[in-house]
Formats: sequence, C-alpha cells, structure tokens
Amino acid sequence: MHVLLIFLDGIGLGDNDTAINPFAVMDTSTLHSLSGGKRWLRNTPRTETDRAIFLPTDASLGISGRPQSASGQAAIMTGLNVPQMIGEHYGPRPNAPIRDILNNGNLFKTLVANNKTAALINPFPPPFHAAIARGKRLPSSIQQSVLSAGLPLFTEKHYYERQALSPDWTGEGWTRFLGYENAPVYNAEEAGKKMVELTRQRDFTMFSTWFTDEIGHRGPFESGVMFMERFDKVMEAVLGEWDDDEGLIIITSDHGNMEVQGDRRHSENQVPTVVIGSRKDEFADGFTDLTHITPGILRALDVQS
Ligand SMILES: [Zn+2]
Repeated sequence: MHVLLIFLDGIGLGDNDTAINPFAVMDTSTLHSLSGGKRWLRNTPRTETDRAIFLPTDASLGISGRPQSASGQAAIMTGLNVPQMIGEHYGPRPNAPIRDILNNGNLFKTLVANNKTAALINPFPPPFHAAIARGKRLPSSIQQSVLSAGLPLFTEKHYYERQALSPDWTGEGWTRFLGYENAPVYNAEEAGKKMVELTRQRDFTMFSTWFTDEIGHRGPFESGVMFMERFDKVMEAVLGEWDDDEGLIIITSDHGNMEVQGDRRHSENQVPTVVIGSRKDEFADGFTDLTHITPGILRALDVQS
C-alpha cells in the first residue's frame, strides 16, 4: 500500500466566473474526469467516479476570517482543528503554539513511530537549508512536520539524483532561476511518471507546491490557467501509470486563493479534495474538512492514530 498526498497551496472552489476564476476556463480534462466531468467550482458536488471521489472540503473549521497556511496545513498534518485550538487562522509560517501542536504529533511522526517510510519529495536549495539552520527562516507547517519526525528536507543532491521533484514539476526553476547547470528538467508527462516512481519507493510520499498560492496573491490569471493545465498533464501521466490497487492518491489544499483573481487575499471558499484508488470509499467515509486527511491516510496504511 502506497499513499501519495499532492498538496496545492491556495486553491479553492470559486464562482463560475471566467473573468476572475482560472478554474472556470482552464482546459483540464483529466482533473475534470476526477469530478464526474465537471469543473472544480463552488457548486460542484461530492462526486464518485470509477477511479476517484471528489470531496468539497471545509477549510474554515468553524473559525471566522480568512483561512491561513500555517493553521490550515497544521490541520491537514495533524488531523486536529488547529484554528480552533489557537482561536484564529494564522500564517503563513507557524507561530509557537502551532509549532508545539506539530511537534507533539503529526502524520510524519506517527508514520515513523509505526515503522512506515515517509518523505516530502520536494528539494530545497542550499540557501534555504542555511536560512533554516541559522534560524533566519521558519519552516512551514508541512516542513516542520517532516523535521519533527526526524526526517530530512531534501536537498539539491536528491534533485540531481532524481529522487526529488521540483514544486513546478518540470524543474525549470532550478536551471533558469536558481542557476543549477545540468539539473534535471522534466516535461509534465515525465514528471507524472517520476512522481509515481517515487511514490512506489515508500509507504507515504508527499508532494507540495506553493506556486498556486503565489499565483493567487500576485496573479496573473494566465499563470493560474497555465500552471493547472500543466498539473492536468502531470495527472494524466500519473493515472496512466498508477494501478488503483496500489494505494491512494490524494489531492488537497489548505485554503482558497487562486480561484479569486483580482483579490490578492485568501478566500473563505471550500477547497477541493480528490481521492483516487480502490480504497477511496474508506478514505471518504465521513470526510468533510481538512482534519479528515490525516486519519484517512493512517487508515489506508493500517496505522492506529
Ligand atoms: Zn497565501
């Protein structure tokens, strides 16, 4: 049994408005096949298809205001209602109360304690690692979960050895923006196959991208369309390669943002969760909000939480 969690920061279910919502115009037939042929929008209902269940997901968790990344990601990683525990939505980086909650227990820690193999497969360049080591930069809630479990955050070495996948999938950023010569570059199809290959190496694999939230904050609209159309091609390759009996693939987000272009802030919209695999019904049973991700993954991997 292998589980892959694909985390897209800041994508919500917004209005069917072609002027402000990239999800209303993007050409993403593979993603739509996971939601019964419908676009990922506000009124798209919970939908079960042969391979997947599409689950509109509450990211507000009973707390008013705009959901934020640190508390939302912490809810995903712990299965606890972290915004309620700290009395607010908080982000982007975790404050001390959120770090305490994460350090006390999270998905990565529970898996390691139960002798399961787990990794966050995104590579981070040396300046990132140096800034974390010097305390100049706080790890995100997802990164903090990995570190608190005694697991490494991957480096450029993992990337060169093709054991990691860049958050843009293609890795163009490593050569074009970070200046790494001869770093691997993948097209979307290759990236999808690579993601499945890496997933098969261990019990739990997580892929996380912040590009989607960045586009939500800064735009432009066209980048949102382009990035999700690339993800669609990645997922086409993933689904072509993946046998549903192998385990579960889950796609989710921490809060809305990209689906409301023109408003640079996060939205209070629900977020999409998709679960793919033979045991999808077990995962989706009773699923309504972000706190249900971790329990569902632990059930799938037969770990007592
Ligand atoms: Zn954000």
